[in-house]
Amino acid sequence: MTINYESFFEASIERLKKEGRYRVFNDLERKAGSFPLAKSNITGRTVTVWCSNDYLGMGQHPKVITAMAEAIGRLGTGAGGTRNISGNHHAIVTLEKTVAELHRKEAGLVFTSGYVANEASLGTLCSMLPNCIIYSDEFNHASMIHGIRNSKAEKHVFRHNDLEHLESLLAASDPARPKVIAFESVYSMDGDISPISAICDLAEKYNAITYLDEVHAVGMYGERGAGVAERDGVMERVTMIQGTLGKAYGVMGGYITGSHALIDMLRSYSPGFIFTTALPPALAAGATASILHLMESSDERVAQQYKVGVMRGMMEKAGLPVMPTMSHILPVLVADPVLCKQASDMLLSQFDIYVQPINFPTVPRGTERLRITPNPCHTHAMMVELTRALVWVFERLGIKADVEKLKEVA
Ligand SMILES: *Cc1c(COP(=O)(O)O)cnc(C)c1O
Repeated sequence: MTINYESFFEASIERLKKEGRYRVFNDLERKAGSFPLAKSNITGRTVTVWCSNDYLGMGQHPKVITAMAEAIGRLGTGAGGTRNISGNHHAIVTLEKTVAELHRKEAGLVFTSGYVANEASLGTLCSMLPNCIIYSDEFNHASMIHGIRNSKAEKHVFRHNDLEHLESLLAASDPARPKVIAFESVYSMDGDISPISAICDLAEKYNAITYLDEVHAVGMYGERGAGVAERDGVMERVTMIQGTLGKAYGVMGGYITGSHALIDMLRSYSPGFIFTTALPPALAAGATASILHLMESSDERVAQQYKVGVMRGMMEKAGLPVMPTMSHILPVLVADPVLCKQASDMLLSQFDIYVQPINFPTVPRGTERLRITPNPCHTHAMMVELTRALVWVFERLGIKADVEKLKEVA
């Protein structure tokens, strides 16, 4: 008997298509200097990008471009090895000092991406702490979930941002066992923000350490862009802060920061750090330039928050179901995977507006949405155009999502 492997692969894709959540990637060419405009090779036309995580437009900032171009010209392209075997270079050492300084921690460690930073750090931390228990917010990013799973540590999932639930789980555990609380500051799909200070209170009360993913906050919150923990004045209370260099900083890579001993342990034991080629000098130099710029300049943060406020006001006034958020992320509820994809397709084909549909498993079923991220480069005219287009599309498709009903679904 022969096994038809191809038919398994095809059936798996068919299932996704039937559910309306087969992923189709846009094929874009961003033009440095004219972001959020980009050329779509799907439509062949210029589109306005409304769903980028290059939240502040740093991906086209002259200082970042210059730093990267200069580094490539002077140092070449790749790092040429792992950190241990010939790949360590001065630009990455500087970057690690910079992220440590940003979060006012003793040390920093750079990974190839934010995903790898989470997966490798939580995986190693929770497997090395003897008999460790991990408490994980139910909406934590896939990278944290996979790291925790790989650690094989005992895991308790607490309801999203629910302090009472977290405390009941902590209180029920053996006080003698090591405990890690893992959570995010800005949750990227709902745009809500966690009570960092109160979670630190619980951590202190129950003798736990805290692991905070600030991926959707670094560059954008706090006086120096160190994130929500900086804004809330609680940075020194968080044991480990993790971030990305690929979103608001506009480059690529991820990192963690914490005490010397903790970072040195992960540097020495984490396979996801050890057995992979180091980030190239140009990426490290670009990321450092971006961080340093945003530590000094609040212009981008102020402009972003202003644009977000205007955009939210316009959409609410037009009666669009914008989910209530406290951050720079504006999710517009569709509550149906097929309609969500159709709305996105229609925005692109009819209006040259690019907003990717967000469907399960990125968000729970029944909460499918268009996730809009205004940045300082969006003009007033672009915002008016987006609002009009959304209203037209929602009417055309008969989308009647109700944000009030979200609580029942979630
Ligand atoms: C995007 C994301 C990551 C991964 O960061 P990358 O640098 O893109 O790999 C980690 N955590 C959260 C919450 C994210 O949204």
